Amino acid sequence: MFYRRFAAAAAILCLASGAFSPAASAPVTVRDVRFWTAPDYTRVVIDVSGQTSYSVRSIAGPHRVVIELPACAAAKSVGNQAVGDGVIERIRVNRLKTGVQVVLDVPRETEFKHFPLRAEQGRPDRIVIDLARTLSGAEVEKRAAEKRRVAESSGYVIAIDAGHGGDAPGAVHHGIHEKTLNLRLARMLKEEIERRKGYTAVLIRDGDYDVVWYKRVLKAREHNADAFVSLHFNGARDSRLSGIELYIISPEGVVDENAEAVAEREHLMQEVQGQGGVVNGDLESILFDVTRTNTMQRSALLTEEVARALKKEKDPPIPFRAIRQRNFVVLRGISMPSILVEGGYLSNKKDASIVAKDGYLRWLARSLADGIEEFFLKHPPAAENAGER
Ligand SMILES: [Zn+2]
Repeated sequence: MFYRRFAAAAAILCLASGAFSPAASAPVTVRDVRFWTAPDYTRVVIDVSGQTSYSVRSIAGPHRVVIELPACAAAKSVGNQAVGDGVIERIRVNRLKTGVQVVLDVPRETEFKHFPLRAEQGRPDRIVIDLARTLSGAEVEKRAAEKRRVAESSGYVIAIDAGHGGDAPGAVHHGIHEKTLNLRLARMLKEEIERRKGYTAVLIRDGDYDVVWYKRVLKAREHNADAFVSLHFNGARDSRLSGIELYIISPEGVVDENAEAVAEREHLMQEVQGQGGVVNGDLESILFDVTRTNTMQRSALLTEEVARALKKEKDPPIPFRAIRQRNFVVLRGISMPSILVEGGYLSNKKDASIVAKDGYLRWLARSLADGIEEFFLKHPPAAENAGER
């Protein structure tokens, strides 16, 4: 399933300006409270049946973060739950006369941010609270060691981006959640790539949490990646559609100075800020850099080599379908050869019965790694382009 494209960014803009006002009549119900642990924060998502006002505050002794939802009721199924991930100890739901109170018991004073999200793509209205993780000395050292491992490796660095995660499941069909499959494939692709001499791989996400698109790009840049591979599985209304598809960013993704391009960027900026992001120099360069012609040409070559590798087997588990072009947000502003893989249609009964098997994911990972290796063999980056990464 694809990343939200530009048209949808406008919806986020309304939210950022606090459009969550109390609903006119029917009481709003808290339907669920869920959480996801990411490396730098824990995300709590409160599912509500409609737009509602809320407030968040922190209290000391003992430390808590309290979300008040006045004029709300909680569904019967919503209760307390243990978290114990080092950021939140427990989530408690209090039913008060004045509404619902969600209490996050935290071990220490914790920084947090929050924002509402409107219902979209089958998901309800939500209130999101992100609590920052305080890293222990051991965790800081572990991350530094991983950075050093990549920085000191000779040869090519491949950034592997498992699409979606956490509150964003991607396509869901036949009981399969795309986000889970993307991560399984990402881990196998990392193994397949690192099995090859002169290659190092970096996982953009390595757990069940969402990463906003521009942070995916930033992480690849931080590691000076030589290629960016975004992994997905498709979902379509037409259940007959099947096969593997590869996507490259279309030339329309190239930004020029027309009114439409300016409006798009403004929406993107607001989307970033609406999610609590700060627009700094790095981010500006992602939003405002013109996609380089050379990078686009190299992305096309990379995609061709990967397609060739996928077509190598006479009787593949899922046949290769097509190379397509789209204006993907996640591939935009990327200053390295990039490709987006859709490894089969979860909405197709036959594809769905194949994709979740280890054997298939292993075959797909090996084929992708073969294509990536072939690309760098045939088209090593020219020295004069070294500064363009
Ligand atoms: Zn997807």
